[in-house]
Amino acid sequence: MKSPAIDSRLLKEIQDHGPLSQHRFMEAALQTYYRTHGGIGRDFTTAPEISQVFGELIGLWCLDAYEKLGRPETLTLVELGPGKGTLMEDILRVAKMVPSFLQALDIYLVEISPHLKHTQKKALAPFSPTWVETFEEIPSSSSPLLILANEFFDSLPTSFYRRKENRIYERYVDLRDEKLSFTWKFLRKETGPEGTWEESLQSLTLFQAICARLLSQKGAFLCLDYGYETGQGDTLQALYQGLPTSPLTHIGQADLTCHVNFGSFKAIALAQGLNVSGPLPQGIFLKNLHIHERIYHLKQKNPSQKGTLEAVYARLTHPSQMGLLFKALAASWPTSFNPIGFSHEN
Ligand code: SAH
Repeated sequence: MKSPAIDSRLLKEIQDHGPLSQHRFMEAALQTYYRTHGGIGRDFTTAPEISQVFGELIGLWCLDAYEKLGRPETLTLVELGPGKGTLMEDILRVAKMVPSFLQALDIYLVEISPHLKHTQKKALAPFSPTWVETFEEIPSSSSPLLILANEFFDSLPTSFYRRKENRIYERYVDLRDEKLSFTWKFLRKETGPEGTWEESLQSLTLFQAICARLLSQKGAFLCLDYGYETGQGDTLQALYQGLPTSPLTHIGQADLTCHVNFGSFKAIALAQGLNVSGPLPQGIFLKNLHIHERIYHLKQKNPSQKGTLEAVYARLTHPSQMGLLFKALAASWPTSFNPIGFSHEN
C-alpha cells in the first residue's frame, strides 16, 4: 500500500527540482512517518518495550549520575524521542526509591509525533513533563542535565557518499519509468581511497548542541542505538509491519533507519574536551549494570516467568540479538564524572 500524499509531494519535488538527495528523501518520508504513525510495536520494537528491566537499569544509571553530580537541587532530565514513554516510566519507578532524586527532576520530552505524544501523556502526566519538538527549545539553566536517547539518532536523515576513481558522488533518489530509484550525483573531484560512507548532518549538529549544553550546565548524555565506531556504512533500511522492505516503497508508512556513527560522536565530544565513555556493545553495558543479577532475582521471585526472563536476557544481551550491534556511548562533564556501565568494576 502506498501513501498517496507523500508520494505525490515527493514526485512533484523531483519533477520541479530534479532528483532528491537520500538525506532530503529520508527527511520527507520520516517526517510523514513519525507525524502520522509512530510504528513502535507494529513496524519495529525497542529495548524498553522488550522488558522493564532495561528501563530500570537506565534508571539506576541516572540515579548514580545524580549522586555523582552531588545531588543537585534541580536536575533536568531530557529524553529524545521517548516513543511510548516506557523507558521514562521505568526510570521514574526507580527514581521513586530516592525521593530527593524524584523531586529534583525537571523532565523534558523531545517528540514530533502527535500520536506518540498522546501515548506519553497517558503514561507520564503525573510527573508533569514539558514537551518540545527540538532540543534547542529546552531553556538553558544553571542546573545539570541528563540527556537520554534510545533508538532516536537512527531515525534521523542520513546522506550516503562514495568515492570512485578520485571522484565523490552522493546517492540521490530519482524518478525512472514512473518509479523511484537510486542514482548517483557527481559532487567533486577528490583524491583518496575508494569506498562509501554515511553522514547525518542533523545528528552531528544536534550532538554538538548537546555537548555545548553539557559544557555549560554539567551532566551527561547517554546514547543507545545500533551503530558502529568505524566502518564504511551503507545501512539504510526500511521496516514495514515488522518486515524489511525497499526504502523506496511504503513511503511515509515504513520506518527508515540508518546505523549511528558513534565514531563521529566520540570525535566531536573529545574535541570539545568532554569525557567520553564507550561506545561499548549494549550487551556488555547491561552486564556492567548487573542485568544478570536483576534477572536472577526476578526469576527467584517469579519462578513461572523463568523462560520469559531468560528470553529477555538473551534478546537484550546476546551478540546474535541486540547485544553486539547495539552500542552505548556516554559523554559527560566535568571530566571527573565517570558514568557507570562502561567498566565492569562499578
Ligand atoms: N526511544 C523510544 C522510541 C524510539 S523510535 C524507544 O526506545 O522505544 C524514535 C522516536 O523518536 C519516536 O518517539 C519518534 O516519534 C521520535 N522522533 C523521530 N524523529 C524525531 C525528530 N526529528 N524530532 C523529535 N523526535 C523524533
